[in-house]
This record gives sequence, structure tokens and C-alpha cells, in this order.
Amino acid sequence: MSKPIVAIVGRPNTGKSSLFNAIAGEPISIVKDIPGVTRDRIYADCTWLNRDFTLIDTGGIEPESRDKLLVSMREQAEIAIETADVIIFLTDVRTGVTDADDRVADMLRRAKKPVVLAVNKVDSFTKFQNDIYEFYNLACGDPIPVSAASRLGIGDLLEAVEAYFPQVEESEAEEDERPKVALIGKPNVGKSSIINRLLGENRVIVSDIAGTTRDAIDTVVVHDGQEYVFIDTAGIRRKSKIHEDIERYSIIRTVTAVERADVVLLVIDASEGVTEQDAKIAGVAHEKGKGILVVVNKWDLVEKTDKTMKEFTDKIKNTLSFMSYAEFLFVSAETGQRMNKLFEMIDMIRSSQTLRIRTGVLNEIITEATVLKQPPSDKGHRLKIFYASQVAVKPPTFVFFVNSKELMHFSYQRYLENRIREAFGFRGTMLRFFIRERQ
Ligand code: GDP
Repeated sequence: MSKPIVAIVGRPNTGKSSLFNAIAGEPISIVKDIPGVTRDRIYADCTWLNRDFTLIDTGGIEPESRDKLLVSMREQAEIAIETADVIIFLTDVRTGVTDADDRVADMLRRAKKPVVLAVNKVDSFTKFQNDIYEFYNLACGDPIPVSAASRLGIGDLLEAVEAYFPQVEESEAEEDERPKVALIGKPNVGKSSIINRLLGENRVIVSDIAGTTRDAIDTVVVHDGQEYVFIDTAGIRRKSKIHEDIERYSIIRTVTAVERADVVLLVIDASEGVTEQDAKIAGVAHEKGKGILVVVNKWDLVEKTDKTMKEFTDKIKNTLSFMSYAEFLFVSAETGQRMNKLFEMIDMIRSSQTLRIRTGVLNEIITEATVLKQPPSDKGHRLKIFYASQVAVKPPTFVFFVNSKELMHFSYQRYLENRIREAFGFRGTMLRFFIRERQ
């Protein structure tokens, strides 16, 4: 099911990050080793009254001058309009309605996206009661008073937001089985060129699914009789480079495209090599447990020997060390080299994502693995694995029942993961593990 995306837009100092934290909750676990993604909280998976949604904070840059402020506000509003299903427009009761607020309101109204107007820093409803009426002038509906810092009014705000979400029954009925593919990567790596090449060589049909507003811009490509849904490709073809150039917006576009994808194509520019920013973008797909194909594009520009491909692969694997499971394909959107192989790889990775291993077979492999390499022990206690079971797909998720969690060292878990991969493949997808204790 497609998760709605909610974006917070507002001037600097209105309290966007505080509101973000008040809705998302404080970060519980900081995932280490994934560069950038979790340190600066650009997005968070949230649940409110059993509805899941993704919250994004479009803010971040704090411009000093008035001119820069207006430019930055326009960009924020545009990225929100482009990616979100519902926009929270945040204002500040203590400054009242400002010129910049007026401009943002204008843009949001014209875009015809659902907007919920929130007035922040209302720490006392009685004291500020009369100051709230002024915000009706923005013509963005009823202003909802909140205090992000004291967590007041958040429930009312989310209720207003949720009213714009698509009905659950509707979106479930539209659950479809076609492979869903997202192309992600830095600006200028060749995402649009790849998509245009694919569209040029295959039959394209106009999307008929419309669960959330974003689904309307999907592109369906027919290859060998199979339909593939390319997510947000209109956005890529429209070329909003202004957004991509700002790293934060690059991540926001990535999050929103990756959300509904089964398989993610991470495009890297071979003439430039792999960078930290590639790693940050890749981190989003990894965190969300998607199938990953690293597409090394512009291969025509590289001087090659018989070792070049291996060297490239090693270097990329080194930078993207948190996703050693990723598959690789070297292409040229320009010459069309290996472009048809993309579909084959997508199919293969997608079947890894949805592969289910029967419990009996899985436990045979685990038993065999523990015989080949003894589980770790500590002070006379040895790890004992009672039983393992695959509990989910997309990504494949396993639960291990053991005598002691502490004894399941990371290196041994990695060993078991490798044995599972050797036995069953699972190429191009991460595997998730839960370790449970049982006496
Ligand atoms: P995007 O920002 O990721 O969508 O990148 P574009 O598709 O706009 O490509 C950026 C530039 O790289 C354009 O000038 C393309 O013509 C060029 N380009 C894209 N793919 C290739 C390729 O395979 N080989 C070469 N030589 N140039 C490419």
C-alpha cells in the first residue's frame, strides 16, 4: 500500500524541526554506518491512529537576506507541492502573518494540493486566542493552533492532515503485482537519459492507478509483455534540477520515489566515480529495505581494460559498504549498451525480494552452518539456535530463536547471512534479522 507523504513548509524559525520531532518522536536508534541519512532528520516514518505516513521537513537552509528568504521559500513550497500528498504550512503566532507567509500561501493555493495551516508557538490557548484569527487572511483554511515545544494541538493537526489521506480500502484494492522501479541518483548522472532510452525502446502506457496524488505521474513500460511501473519518472523527465542541486531536496525526492518501489536503480556516473553524496542517496533505499541495482552509467566515457569493471565495482562496494548485497550493471544511456539487461536484473532482484524459504529447508541450512562453524561462546555459555523462520518478504526477514541474544555476535550473524545467501541467492536485496530469546 502506498504510504502518504506529508511535508512541512514554513519560514525559518517557525519551528519546523520542533514540529517534526513532536510528530515523529525523538529518534530512538541512530543507525550507524549509513552516512548522513539519520543524522540530519529530513524524513521519518510515522504512525498516527494506525495510519502510516512519511513526514518530510523541507526546511534546513536559513537564509540571511530577504531576497534569499523568498527564493528559499519558493523552493521549499515547490518541492513540497511536487512530492507531498498533504502539506503542513507552518506559521508563527508571535510574529503574526508576514510577507513571506503571504507569498507561500499564494503558491500553495495555486498548486491545489491539500494544505493544513498550523500556527505554532501557541503555548497558551487563552493568551493567544485572538491572535489566531489574523491567519484566516492567508486563505488556507482554518488555522490550527499548536505548540511544537509543549506538544499541544498535535492531535488536532494530524486529524486535519489525515482527513486528506486516501481511504485505506481504496488503496488496498489497488495493490497491484507489477514490478515498481525507482531511479535515484545525484543530478546529471543520467537518470533522465536512462528513462528516455527505456521509453524510446519499449511500449509506454499511461498510468491508470491513482491511489495517492503522486501515483498519477507513474509511467508504465511494457517489456516482453510484462508491465513495469516506473515511479515518479515524470518528475525526472520534467527535470527539476533546481531541487536536485540542493542536497536536502535530492534526499526528499529520493525518499518519495523509493517509498513505493520494489527495486531501486541507483545511478552512478562512471566518468565521475562514486561519491559521499551517492552513499547518502543509497542509504535511503537501504534503510527502507528495497532491492538495489547499482547502474553505472556513461560507461562509454571510460577507458577500459579487462580490469576496469572489477576496479569500479570494488571502489563502489567500498563506499557503499553498508549494502554489500547490491547488484551491478554497467550501461550507457547514450549508446544503449546493456540497457535491455536492466529488465532482466529488475526481475531477478524482485524475485529475491519476494522469495520465501520454507522453515524446514531454512533450518537444515542453519543446522549445517552451525556444524561447519561452531557458534560463539562466552564464559562457558555457547550460543544455541533453537529454530529460525522467515516471517516476511520485501525485504526478506528472518527471526532466530536463541538461548541468549548477547551470544549472537555480529560476525556470526554475518556468517549465517552468508550461508543463507549461498543456499538461496537473495541477490540484490538486504536481509533483515531479528534475534529473539527463548529458554
Ligand atoms: P539526470 O540529472 O540524472 O537526469 O541526468 P541527465 O539524464 O540529464 O544527463 C546528464 C548529462 O549526461 C546529459 O548531458 C546527458 O546527455 C549525459 N549522459 C547521460 N547518460 C550518458 C551516457 O551514458 N554517456 C554519455 N556520454 N553521456 C550521458
